[in-house]
Amino acid sequence: MLESLKKMFSGNEGDMPVSTGSKPDISREKSAELYEKAKNYFPGGVNSPVRAFKSVYGTPLFIQKGDGCFVWDADGNQFIDFCGSWGPLILGHNHPKVRDKVTEVMQNGMSFGAPTALENELAELIIKNNKFVEKIRFTSSGTEAVMSAIRLARGYTGKDKIIKFEGCYHGHTDSLLVKAGSGLVTFGETSSAGVPKSFAQETIVIPLNDKDAIKAAFEQFKDEVAAVIIEGIPANNGLLMQDVEYIKYLENICKENKALLIFDEVITGFRLGFEGAAAHYGVKPDIVTYGKIIGGGLPVGMYGASAEIMGHISPDGGVYQAGTLSGNPVAMAAGIAQLTELLRSGFYKELNNKASEFAESIQRFATARNYKLKVFHVGSIFWMAFTDKDKIQSADDIDPASMEKFKVLHRELLNRGIYIGPSGYEVGFVSAAHTKIELEKAKRAILESLDVVFRNK
Ligand SMILES: *Cc1c(COP(=O)(O)O)cnc(C)c1O
Repeated sequence: MLESLKKMFSGNEGDMPVSTGSKPDISREKSAELYEKAKNYFPGGVNSPVRAFKSVYGTPLFIQKGDGCFVWDADGNQFIDFCGSWGPLILGHNHPKVRDKVTEVMQNGMSFGAPTALENELAELIIKNNKFVEKIRFTSSGTEAVMSAIRLARGYTGKDKIIKFEGCYHGHTDSLLVKAGSGLVTFGETSSAGVPKSFAQETIVIPLNDKDAIKAAFEQFKDEVAAVIIEGIPANNGLLMQDVEYIKYLENICKENKALLIFDEVITGFRLGFEGAAAHYGVKPDIVTYGKIIGGGLPVGMYGASAEIMGHISPDGGVYQAGTLSGNPVAMAAGIAQLTELLRSGFYKELNNKASEFAESIQRFATARNYKLKVFHVGSIFWMAFTDKDKIQSADDIDPASMEKFKVLHRELLNRGIYIGPSGYEVGFVSAAHTKIELEKAKRAILESLDVVFRNK
């Protein structure tokens, strides 16, 4: 098996012999049963909307367990997983070091609502190895971290308006559930029912990768802008890689206008490297937010800044923010165990090399076969886009019609034992637990699936 795989991936991948044709659907009987039940309990049968498989085929898979790079569903199907719980599991599922630490700490109780030494320990791991934060605050989710960062920026600057970018997701905070209206610089229009128009009016939404737009926004709302918020590397609506020069431009224009630059690194933090996208670009955001990886699979978020800015958070300062379960000891334990592994020398180099090799070999195959597919990737994040554009840097560059192709890809991948997020706008993650063997297997499944997708091109 291994030998034949090796042969397959040497030489010109465009000539690679692959079996084409759809595979029969895997059994989803138990998942379907659970889903029917779940629909009685939860809107859409889920506790977070994208899980409902609305933009792909079939009922959502109910996952029973995960180990390493694998997950198993309720019907016993095994998958190589590239969703990784949407990013947190950079070490893979059920990592022994994380599991052991959590189990150990749990013996002493689950929550106290009082400080514990574990909070210090995780904070020290982060602050000592990250030049962007001097003081931090733990929350229980990425959404909370961002919501608090925005409040802090407003409290610190005494200004109200926020500039956000079309195509960036920052969690489900009211004032950030907004999309661009028509025109270069617009007030946000709410993208969710239940968000007051007046909230959305405090948020200005502009396109990514557009210097004129941000310049115009600062001119139009002179002295009103508290902060510009951007995802470290936008990775919630495709992977919209920005030019370093543009990010530096943002940094400067914020300074000139005494607005804070908030880097929402809930996905990119500890993913692109221990210091996230800020180090990747070489810029210094005023406030950063983390989530996902920081909790090792348990609910943790964090925001941080200079000691001076963080001095505005209560009880030191006037910006109120709190949490019953903030700094929860069990969650801290998972974070400590996971981040300790990430700090091992060579960790990111090895992971990122593995991931880019994976992405690039898929790209070579697609190019050789003239398939309209681009595999964008950075660090261990990848995104397969059905496009022939060399760069996709703003939300408008994504062709919604291409999502029909993704639907087919998704079904073919599931039927070949590959689990990826159930939407073509979602990125995939390679974890340290994906070995070369599994990546070869996954690659082969992806190539076969692409042949099916493009069969009638
Ligand atoms: C996931 C994510 C959030 C929201 O985090 P939750 O833990 O889901 O609340 C915010 N910002 C970015 C960039 C994210 O990727």
